[in-house]
Amino acid sequence: MVILGGGESGVGSAILAKQKGYDVFVSDKGTFKEKYKTILTENKIEFEEGTHTLEKILNATEVIKSPGIPDKVELVLKLKEKNIPVISEIEFAGRYTNAKKICITGSNGKTTTTMLTYHILKKAGYNVGLGGNVGKSFAYQVATEKFDYYVLELSSFQLDGMFNFKADVAVLLNITPDHLDRYDYKFENYITSKFRITQNQTANDYFIYCADDDVINNHMKSWSSPVNLIPFSIKKPIDGNGAFLNGNQITLNYKPNQNPLIMTIEQLALQGKHNVYNSMAASLATRIVDVRKEIIKESLQDFQGIEHRLEFVASINGVEFINDSKATNINSTWYALESMQKPIIWVCGGQDKGNDYNELIDLVKGKVKAIVCLGKNNKKIISAFKDVVDIIAETDNASDAVATSYKIAKKGDVVLLSPACASFDLFENYEDRGMQFKGAVRSL
Ligand code: ADP
Repeated sequence: MVILGGGESGVGSAILAKQKGYDVFVSDKGTFKEKYKTILTENKIEFEEGTHTLEKILNATEVIKSPGIPDKVELVLKLKEKNIPVISEIEFAGRYTNAKKICITGSNGKTTTTMLTYHILKKAGYNVGLGGNVGKSFAYQVATEKFDYYVLELSSFQLDGMFNFKADVAVLLNITPDHLDRYDYKFENYITSKFRITQNQTANDYFIYCADDDVINNHMKSWSSPVNLIPFSIKKPIDGNGAFLNGNQITLNYKPNQNPLIMTIEQLALQGKHNVYNSMAASLATRIVDVRKEIIKESLQDFQGIEHRLEFVASINGVEFINDSKATNINSTWYALESMQKPIIWVCGGQDKGNDYNELIDLVKGKVKAIVCLGKNNKKIISAFKDVVDIIAETDNASDAVATSYKIAKKGDVVLLSPACASFDLFENYEDRGMQFKGAVRSL
């Protein structure tokens, strides 16, 4: 068994493969973190870094590939040419557990919904593991734990390497264009990839999806599956199983002979329309595995939120600071702007992923009083908004961005970091950007 990529998922896969009696070799073109080297050495697993030794890799019976490695790199093409199966960590680990798997995907909101679902199940006392894109790898947990349930956050890249895996409960939050560089710039390919979350599902399984998403609805017109459909919507009533919003009240129906779960959106710990969706999805997923309604309600009320996702940082002299550094595309920033109730000083920018800022114009017009760019090249943002926002400032580090925003802000305003862009022009990653922003706020 050859494993490409020596990060969290690769090392977890190596441990599991070794435990199952495979001859394992881990290869990474970059370098390994010290902690992973130690684990591999302790477990007597052979590995190489800085190179891929072709003879060894092309001799594999099967290859587990990290989701970070694109399908188009030469090595992967060679493997495919030789008909060597290339799978993802999730596919591999799925073979060795009978636990019930709740799998969550979408273009935005995956981590939030995954954490929320996990929180509800923990609170209900379930023996549950958390994996996929968050926390410890699924494979490592399959090797070392005995969970009855897993909540797994799945990206399209992981789904691409999944073939026989089946989700007992699949959640599809939304689909908006993202990562198109890895899908031959064809949106259709990315949509198909997201729908792999439902592959192999049977009449005993469940598919929870957003009925307000036109991309999902369109795709479902030419899609068929025996799975139980569980839609959620904030725009229209849902007959039968599902969740919908009526005024400010969420109604969730799951079992026809039971009373619905009812709560108001004001009771939700996570505010904003997008979080109504996320809360509905998590509630449905946990209702399906029989969590009591009361526990779900309590959990939605006491959930602590997650770092870098509309995270409250501090209020200084009446100016609120919010860190939404994880918003790296237009759609997630749209929801962030939409959910603000106060005049906004909007900190945005970074590495552009082909953004179309027109989608934000209406919201920005109505809600944003100043823009503080935080990026190396801010031309696109400036030309998109110069006619609708009076003040646009440019900065290239977090402390300047915070100081400039604070200078502009008045009591009752909110300074929102929601960049709509990747962070790599000025920061290591979105976490680094969020940490530096918070650090700068705290030292004001
Ligand atoms: P993901 O794991 O899919 O990247 P996160 O839960 O980390 O998603 O949230 C990323 C950003 O997307 C958040 O900062 C938030 O502003 C926005 N967001 C969260 N949920 C949704 C949703 N359901 N629809 C659109 N945007 C969302």
